[in-house]
Amino acid sequence: MTLNVSPVFQTAGNLEASEETLAGLDAWRSMSPLQQPTYTDEAELQDALSRLRAVPPLVFAGEADMLKERIAAAARGEAFVLMGGDCAESFADATADKIRRRIQTVLQMAAVLTYGGSMPVVKMGRMAGQFGKPRSADTETRDGVTLPSFRGDIVNAHGFTPEDRRHDPERLLQAYQVSASTLNLIRAFTTGGFADLRLVHTWNRGFLASNPNYQRYEELAQEIDRALRFMEACGTDFEAMRQVEFFASHEALILEYERALARIDSRTGTPYATSGHFLWIGERTRDIESAHVDFLSRVRNPIGVKLGPTATADDALRLADKLDPEGEPGRLTFVTRMGAGKIREALPKLLADVGDSLPHVTWICDPMHGNTITSANGFKTRRFEDVMEEVAGFFDAHDEAGTVPGGLHIELTGDDVTEVLGGAQEIDEEGLRRRYETLVDPRLNHDQSLEMAFRVAELLKA
Ligand code: PEP
Ligand code: MN
Repeated sequence: MTLNVSPVFQTAGNLEASEETLAGLDAWRSMSPLQQPTYTDEAELQDALSRLRAVPPLVFAGEADMLKERIAAAARGEAFVLMGGDCAESFADATADKIRRRIQTVLQMAAVLTYGGSMPVVKMGRMAGQFGKPRSADTETRDGVTLPSFRGDIVNAHGFTPEDRRHDPERLLQAYQVSASTLNLIRAFTTGGFADLRLVHTWNRGFLASNPNYQRYEELAQEIDRALRFMEACGTDFEAMRQVEFFASHEALILEYERALARIDSRTGTPYATSGHFLWIGERTRDIESAHVDFLSRVRNPIGVKLGPTATADDALRLADKLDPEGEPGRLTFVTRMGAGKIREALPKLLADVGDSLPHVTWICDPMHGNTITSANGFKTRRFEDVMEEVAGFFDAHDEAGTVPGGLHIELTGDDVTEVLGGAQEIDEEGLRRRYETLVDPRLNHDQSLEMAFRVAELLKA
């Protein structure tokens, strides 16, 4: 099966939503949503929103349902979720080459995990919509000049001028358009034969041939080749392998954007967010009374909630009660991001306190956001070994609790950037200067991403 859902399937039925359902989609407005843009020109905003309400959906409800089934399998330990991409996508970086390299990196990691861990991998990009960023401060001061913080390309620009930092409603439409072209490329790559497992070698092309993870990947690709030749000799039909399921996820942060792209599924009369397949609520906006929790409780997509080290079992249970009252398999994923120093205490406690109350929830690990530090020379960075230590702590905690480690959520790029310390290339603080390109948080580069996949495959085997 592929991401292409036929139009007949989508338009079957003409169920409409009730007045109450429709009103519910706007309930968040009275809940003082955090982390929202402040637009100065109401007419300009309304003009942008009315155009956004008229555009076609980026994803279909049927695709979101399919992803829900895949995630449900991960909760049962029958699959593993791999979600990766930029911390903040940028409009300028939505080029064919950069998008291809990111997809390639996720596909390579998935090949390593599938083969090494003998586990189907649910592939998702933090892509085609990851344009809004929560910030800890509303303003930023440089050399005595104070301007609004950069909140992601969907809100304002990264440059440090008053014009760049203005919250511009037109960017909501640009975000939609860039998401549409990104998703178009994702669909072309993953259904057009590029993701065919028989091309497992070619995904390595264009990356540094000298590093050890690249060579290790080549060896694994040769093993996969041998296995495929064996299957071919046995008469396996390879047509199905030409196409790969690849889903798009992002943080549902900017609620005007999400609301304008919410659509009623004509099969069921229920609302879906059509800005992406999987949406999550960030650590800063997950309060049970929050506008974000309310909005996502009203759409039927598979959704996630980040849980940091202060999250209690009570938080988790109340969130599950509000977001997944029916205990629907695949609906709710908790993305824990505790930090390497805390995970071995915080996660076992959380899992023990939750007990067996949430059997349908999928638990995945974000080993990035609890491990952000500032280097002595002023870069926002992470240590690769801290990231790996959090992943190891995640597997151990689930092993002890008898729950399922369902997947990984990581910030990565397919480029050879130098933003995270360590890895096979042993990037040190000075090395960060070489190619530090991220707009917000540091990303694993291609090599570090492969290394992580090899190490996680070992954990999956154990
Ligand atoms: C993020 O995923 O980029 C992010 C901001 O994460 P968190 O909400 O977990 O801090
Ligand atoms: Mn981030």
